[in-house]
Parts: sequence; structure tokens; C-alpha cells
Amino acid sequence: MNFADIILPLAQPCYTFAVSHIADLKVGEAVAVQFGKSSIYTGIVLNLHNNPPKSGSIKPVLKRLYDFPLLSPLQIEFWRWLSEYYISTIGEVMRIALPSLVKPHAATEELYTPYSIPQQRVLRLKGDITDEQLQKIIRRAPRRAALINKIQEAGGEIARSDTKADAATISALVKADVIEIFERDATPQLGAITQSLLPTLSAEQSAALERINSGFQSRNVVLLHGVTSSGKTEIYTHPIAKALEKGEDVLLLVPEISLTSQLVERMQRMFGERVISYHSKLTPARRTQIYMDMLRSPSGNFIIGARSALFLPYKKLGLVVVDEEHDTSYKQSEPNPRYHGRDAAIMLASLHNAKTILGSATPSLESFNNAMAAKYYGVSLTSRYGGSQPPKIIISDTLRAVKRGERKSHFNKELLDRIAERLAAGEQVILFQNRRGYAPYVECPRCGWKARCPKCNVTLTRHLKNGTLSCHYCGYTIADPRFCPDCKSSELQAMGFGTERVEEQIASLFPTARVLRLDGDSANSSGAYNRIISQFAAGEADILVGTQIVAKGLDFKGVTLIGILNADNLTSAPDFRAAERAWQTILQVAGRCGRRERAGEVVVQTADPSHPLFAALDEQGYQHFAAEQLRERQLFNYPPFCRLIRITLRHREGSRLSAAAAMLSQRLKKEFGSRVLGPVTPLIDRIRGEHIVEILIKIESGLSFARSRAIVAETVSEVRKKADNRTVTIICDVDPL
Ligand code: ADP
Ligand code: ZN
Ligand code: ZN
Repeated sequence: MNFADIILPLAQPCYTFAVSHIADLKVGEAVAVQFGKSSIYTGIVLNLHNNPPKSGSIKPVLKRLYDFPLLSPLQIEFWRWLSEYYISTIGEVMRIALPSLVKPHAATEELYTPYSIPQQRVLRLKGDITDEQLQKIIRRAPRRAALINKIQEAGGEIARSDTKADAATISALVKADVIEIFERDATPQLGAITQSLLPTLSAEQSAALERINSGFQSRNVVLLHGVTSSGKTEIYTHPIAKALEKGEDVLLLVPEISLTSQLVERMQRMFGERVISYHSKLTPARRTQIYMDMLRSPSGNFIIGARSALFLPYKKLGLVVVDEEHDTSYKQSEPNPRYHGRDAAIMLASLHNAKTILGSATPSLESFNNAMAAKYYGVSLTSRYGGSQPPKIIISDTLRAVKRGERKSHFNKELLDRIAERLAAGEQVILFQNRRGYAPYVECPRCGWKARCPKCNVTLTRHLKNGTLSCHYCGYTIADPRFCPDCKSSELQAMGFGTERVEEQIASLFPTARVLRLDGDSANSSGAYNRIISQFAAGEADILVGTQIVAKGLDFKGVTLIGILNADNLTSAPDFRAAERAWQTILQVAGRCGRRERAGEVVVQTADPSHPLFAALDEQGYQHFAAEQLRERQLFNYPPFCRLIRITLRHREGSRLSAAAAMLSQRLKKEFGSRVLGPVTPLIDRIRGEHIVEILIKIESGLSFARSRAIVAETVSEVRKKADNRTVTIICDVDPL
């Protein structure tokens, strides 16, 4: 073939290069190419053909990088699907999919250094030596004899690093012409599978496992809806073991990197060193090593990772488990492709003809609906493992507490009394507030001035420990002002409350209690996160105050009481998913308590106790609540009954932005009519000095979504090309959350 279309790690289409000078080039191979004025990029061969491009000069590929493809045909198909589904270029997929060392990029050819596979030194016994000669050389030289023995046992050659021989012994044998040394690509460093006993399942767990297996007879996806602490992880181990026994790869996806280490340890106890964790916080060298090792070894790997693990070179994927499938962290928020890890996992599994288990205590309405519609096979697990009781939920009316004088700081008496009881009994308490910092805004009571970010349309959050006000959108930070800049009043007030304030107040109400805080500020590294978690787990603190992070997958045995300080924060979000999210968050937080013998209690503080959500915080309630929510979504035409594409436009100048948005929405309306909503100004309409507007497109199920996406992509790219719009950022988000 004379030409190849090459994927480059850029937001650009593929370009054609000449390749006739490279023998036997294959699709999926990596090459170095020159692109732009003076840049050398790593590219991937997307396809090969003999059609010269119609215009422009054509450059030759500089060189091929490895003697094997970097990407399998299945991976290319997966990349294509991602780029097409999420309205991105395949180059944007490449940019996030491959570890950085695998796709180097440099200004000149001299500076361009492709990744080279680590070499290993190998000792080999020469064949043309007689026994007699050999005997002579090793006589009275036990170390030489031992080494020769070792090489013979290994079949004639052995890696230098696998012997304990000293340099003198080796060089003596080389000099005597008995062995030779050469270098070759190091063998992949994948650990051995050493499967030990799997957990014995309870009767209910066994029944669920049987239903999963029988579900897989007719469906490729099973939704395992198991209440928190029902032992979903234990159940996963059985199909995982089965797939590994067949020599297939297994992928266990988790929504957040912080959750991998606990799970990896748990799985390594059962499956040994073959369990590998893979996520974006590993060093580039480690990520590259894992990628290359998998590429060069047979299937049978067990990967636990965040969504980037979807891009590893699986040879034969047998099973994908998506744990906590409801978690919104699965969605990539930026950059392109803005893909959903769960949905992409299902796609990847189907390309491999593999099975998928989606697990959650609080399934997303999308997955729940798919199970109801028999697209997925639904399996449920309604009781906790070991007979521990589900927590008792107490809805505590904040307004009534105020009226009766039963509220101190941000706590109702109902909650405070229980905290006192639990602390007296030596048990632990978690307090949840989904805001970090001390107070979300600072206000002057005299003139009404509020501290705002100059670059974003939001108030600044007070952080007491640092003595600062800071913006949670752009990081802008100033010293906490003592006086109102407008009227010079010195009575500035902190309004509302975040975790830092909860920590302060609870410490003053319970001065002897030991309090820890877990939020984006205190756990800003995985080290800090692990330290706080293990301190609390070891009983070194009595109360843990935290944001959303405390809701995720943690297993503390001493916790018997949870306080949700302001549920109205959750339910009042201006989003059609607010009720679903609030329900999920409350149940996930609640799931952290009473995981052992002692039953737990959850106090939910709200000013709106009659909200229907609160009646749905148990299993029977969920069926009812989900059905009700789905009915509402159908009525108002929201997912899962339609598909959404959200287009966000950003620019520093409001007028330029409005013009671009008006042009885009007008053109989209020509194609989609009233399915196009907007442009509208979002709640936060300025971030980092850029104005923001949004256009929403609703595609009903009757219409081809693939065709609609293609039209959107085409329209957006036309509007982008107009001279006035060149500097406007336009982002398409398919299935936005
Ligand atoms: P889930 O993921 O459903 O919240 P886990 O898998 O974390 O639940 O299980 C909750 C607790 O119960 C864990 O400490 C787990 O080790 C224990 N557990 C669950 N099932 C079993 C089992 N079959 N044998 C032993 N321990 C179990
Ligand atoms: Zn003032
Ligand atoms: Zn800001």
C-alpha cells in the first residue's frame, strides 16, 4: 500500500501520509511523522490504501516505531466508537488513551525518543562444548558448577537477573567460551495467578450468583442491585475466578482512584500478584510498563482501575465488572471525549463478546430502566451480609427544631442527643455536609456586600484554617477581609456552612471527642486520604466530618450513627436528576454505618420533611420512587426516554459569544426544530473570565441518535469555521450528567 491515514494525538482529523517505503506496515502500528512546522508526533496507522489525497503535498512517514502493532483491531474499533459517539476526533481519543511515554512528541527528530522496551541480559550455554571440557572448567569451582547447573535446568538459557551468580564467575565462564551473553526485550513483568480460596457465599449471595449466571445465558449485561454491605464484592470474585481460569482478561472498574487500593488489596489476597491496578495517578513509566507488558503477553490479566483502564490492550476480555455503576465520577468531564466509563465499558465488553456486571446499592435510573425493560438482566440482593440490620432512618425537621428552641449551631437536638449517646458508648459518628470550607459566602449585614470571585460568577468560600476566601471554580484566593470594602463595617458575617465549620462547631459542643475531617481540602493527596481513613478505621477518632467522599465504598466497623446535616442542599439542585442524586447520596452515606453487629441510625436534617424522597429510603420505597421518577421523566421527556446533547460555548466577550450561540442554535433549529432548547445562560454563567452559554438538544427515541450526532458534529464544525467564531470554545457533551 502507498498511503496510510494516521491518527495523531490532536483535536484534528486523520491525515494521509506516504508509506510505500516501509515494508509490510500494518493497521495499528505506531509511526513517527512530522506534522506542523517542526513537530514530530507519534501516530497510529488507522488504515492503508492507494488513494492519493486530492490536494496538498504528501509527506512520508519518518519511521516505524516497533515491530508489533500498538493497537489491536478491537481497540481501533473501540476508539472509533468513542470518537463517533462522543462527537470527538479519534485523535482526541488517542490523546487520553495511550500512556504518555508510548506516544512521545518532540520539536525535532533528534529530540524524538520513542519508548524502548527494557532489555534484559541473558546467559546462554554454548552448544559446541564437550562434557569433558565442561568438567575441566567447573572442577573445584563450585560457583561455576552451580551456575552451569542452573542454566541447564532452565533449558539452556536464563535471565542474568534470575541467577545469583557473581560477575567474576560469569566472566570466567564467558572467557572459557562455555557461555555467551546477549540482550533481548525483557519478559513482561506480570505476576502469577495464585488463586486461593474464594469466600463462601451466604445462601442469599449464592442465589444471587446463580441468577447472575443464568442471566448471562440470555443477556450480556446483569444489573446487580444489592443493598450496601450485602457483599457484592464477594459475589464478583466467583465470575472473576471463572474468567481467569479460562485464561480470559478481567476488568473491574471503580469510579474513583481512591477506591482502588482497598479493592486491590482485597483481590490480591484471593488472586495473587496478577491483580494490577491501573489509573491516571500512576507514574507515566508505570502506566507504560503495564501497557507494554499486556501487549506482549497472553490474556489472563486482572485489572482493577478507573475509567482509563478501558484503554489497555486486552486480548480476550471475558468479564467486566462496573462497581458503583451509578457514580457520576464515571463520566469524564474534560477534555474530549466526554465519555461515560460505564457505558464505554459495556461497549468494550460487547466488542469482546464479554459479559458485564453492573453493581450498585443505588442503581442509576438509566440502568434500572434497562433492567425493567429486560435489556439487562436484573438481580437483587436485599439483605446485608451476616445479618446486620439496615440503618434506621430518622427524618429530622429543622424548622420545627428552631421553633421549639431545639437547635444548636447547625444541629437539631434529635441529632445531638444521639451523638452524645454514641460517643458515650464508644461508637463512631459520621457527619455529612456536601460543601467544603468554612462558609460558602461572606456577607456584610449593613450594606449587603458579598465577597465574589472577579473571574467567576460565584461567591468566595471562607476557609478558616488558611484565613482565606477562595473560589471553588478557578482557585482565586484572597486574605479573609476584616472590613467591608464598601461601607467599612467590621461585622462581616460567614453565611451557610461547610465541613470546616461543622468540624469547629461539633468540637466545641463535644470538647472531648476526637474529630477528623475528610474533604477535598484535607485529603488533597492519596497519602492524606489514606491516612485519615486508616486513622478513623483504627478508632483513633470518634467523629468524621466529610463531604461526598465519605459516601464512597468505605467500610468502617465502628460507625453506628450518621448525620446528614442539610439534605435540602441535595434535593434543591436545579437539575432533573436532583431527586435521584439526593436519594443515592443519602443511601450511600447511610450505608457506611451499622455494618456489623450493632444496628445504625441515620439522622437526616431537612426543612422539607414531606419531600417524597424521604419516604423512599428503603428497598420497597426505591421501587416505588424509581417508578415515580421514571414516570415524571417520561412525562417531561427526559432521559432515559430521550437522549441529550449539551453544547457549551465559552468566550471572554459576551457579545461575540451571543452571536456564535445564536448562529449555532439557529442552524440546529433548522435541523432539529423545537428539540433545540436555548441558548440559555447557566446558573454559573462566568468561569475564569469566560462567559458561558448552553444549548440543549433532546433527541426522542424514535429518531436515529447516530444520525443526529452526525448532524450536530457537522453543524458545530461549520459554525466553528466562521472567522468570527474561531476563538469561541464549543464543547459537545453527549449524555451529559
Ligand atoms: P458491598 O460491596 O455490597 O457494600 P461488601 O462486599 O463490602 O459489600 O461486604 C460487606 C462486608 O461483609 C465486608 O466486610 C465483607 O468482607 C463481608 N462479607 C460479605 N460477604 C461475605 C462472605 N460471603 N464471606 C465473608 N465475608 C463477607
Ligand atoms: Zn458593607
Ligand atoms: Zn473564580
